[in-house]
Amino acid sequence: MCIAIVSASSIATHCPYCALQCGIHLLPEPGGLRVEPNAHFPVNKGGLCVKGWSSAAVLTHPDRLRTPLIRQADGTFAPASWDEALQCIASRFSATQRAHGRDAVGVFGGGSLTNEKVYLLGKFARVALGTSNIDYNGRFCMSSAAAAANKAFGIDRGLPFPLADIAEATTILLVGGNPAETMPPIMQYFEAQQRHGGRLIVADPRRTATAQWAGLHLRVRPGTDAALANGLLHVLIRDGLVDDRYIAERTLGFDDARRMAAQYWPERTERITGVPEATIIEVARALGTTPRPMIITARGPEQQAQGVNNVLAFINLALALGAVGRPGSGFGTLTGQGNGQGGREHGQKADQLPGYRSITDPAARAHMAAIWNVPEAEVPGPGRSAFELLDALGTEVRALLVVGSNPVVSAPDASRIERRLASLDTLVVSDFFLSETARLAHVVLPSAQWAEEGGTMTNLEGRVILRRRSQPPPDGVRTDIETLCALAAALGRGAWFRHEREGEVFEELRRATAGGPADYSGITYDKLDAHDGIHWPCPAPDHAGTPRLFADRFPTPTGKARFHATPHRDIADPCSTEYPLRLTTGRVLAQYQ
Ligand code: SF4
Repeated sequence: MCIAIVSASSIATHCPYCALQCGIHLLPEPGGLRVEPNAHFPVNKGGLCVKGWSSAAVLTHPDRLRTPLIRQADGTFAPASWDEALQCIASRFSATQRAHGRDAVGVFGGGSLTNEKVYLLGKFARVALGTSNIDYNGRFCMSSAAAAANKAFGIDRGLPFPLADIAEATTILLVGGNPAETMPPIMQYFEAQQRHGGRLIVADPRRTATAQWAGLHLRVRPGTDAALANGLLHVLIRDGLVDDRYIAERTLGFDDARRMAAQYWPERTERITGVPEATIIEVARALGTTPRPMIITARGPEQQAQGVNNVLAFINLALALGAVGRPGSGFGTLTGQGNGQGGREHGQKADQLPGYRSITDPAARAHMAAIWNVPEAEVPGPGRSAFELLDALGTEVRALLVVGSNPVVSAPDASRIERRLASLDTLVVSDFFLSETARLAHVVLPSAQWAEEGGTMTNLEGRVILRRRSQPPPDGVRTDIETLCALAAALGRGAWFRHEREGEVFEELRRATAGGPADYSGITYDKLDAHDGIHWPCPAPDHAGTPRLFADRFPTPTGKARFHATPHRDIADPCSTEYPLRLTTGRVLAQYQ
């Protein structure tokens, strides 16, 4: 049961940053708000990292934007009224679409937006602008893990089991994740696992804080993750440690994976990965002889050109062990961004409609056309994914609306992205601060922050939680929901966007997701209040949600999960005399993203 109030003036809400979505209390103090951890919220249980402790400070930061800005002929920004800014945007977007077609205006979102904003941004692109070109920064984050889960399991939910299962696992292999620094409160589950006698093995090129803490560290060479997984599968098969019955009854394609794994005998795997042969055998046997094995991946193996292949290789392992769908075991991936999960479910992806539906599915298109009250033929088809969208800026895409993202900093090849953005006819950015991307804009819109608007987020275990509005935005600042509805009206599409508050958007989102893979139709704000969140799918008002997926079947046409052949491929750009350094992605404790 959620304890919403700890004192007359405190508000129970959630940290705005990572996908753990720790429960916090906000308490008023002179000049702003103070953060206290919520000891009763079952995810963080009173734990909080430095990002959460300091999260209220950005609300009162002196550099916050408080008025719309329009770029002048001399290149400087001048303050403008909201009416002036919205009319300016509408007229520039309309002119671009008249001259170059509807797809010439694009939309770029983010993985930290609430589900309501994600949903409304997708609707805005397709119903107000009529463009197919909408995508978001999550494509650079864990899209490869999402694609792999869809291919193998038929659905993508980062952890398809509750966090509590981590504490029950007897052996965990964590690949390319550093939660001791990125989301420290989650470590209480790993600590509990070790107290119960469990073992944690970490594979990571760096000796991270998590690797130092683990019982065994596999210092895998960057870019050789699939080879490591294949080598482990080789030993499991060779030593008779796979779950033959599970493989026969619940999976397809094992023969392909077996043939492929035959080529990764331990000596060869050592040569590729740098992990000693004896250690590979030790880890395979640790996984193959333990009652509840668990495999977790994160950005290490995922943020690579062959990320999907890498994740599928570790899913092969979990399936061969018969671990997926059993309590206290299985396969999962640690989501990073605050709403990285919900952000990829409700329609801000170029190929997707709300509820994790495909935009090419005729039934899904008809369903959404009815919800949006538009002819089905007017719902655009698939557009450009994030990389393709950013690559087309200044050519096929000549105007862009950016909401909740800073691609100049977070997209690969930053200087190229900067040049592309600078070449646009119109760039509009909605943000709290004059970010590196906003500095290039023609129009900047000041946006409300996390504590100044309500809405839902979906954490790394698929738990939908309610983030309460704790205080109004500063004068002159609007929520993105207000902005999108007003901009739709300026574009002549206001009749489709009569959403006063986030609750009205969520009611439409519920209907939109009904029957889809990510079904939120049985979730209400009242239920979220009463139960500390609900795990999707939740298809009916009297449904309690689904903390653990795959108990009996997989949501694939056959009901079975699928193995894949996942050969190791050398990285695309190996070290050379000219480029002798190997760089890899990583995160630090004190900063988000
Ligand atoms: Fe919790 Fe993540 Fe916020 Fe840290 S950043 S307090 S781990 S939600």
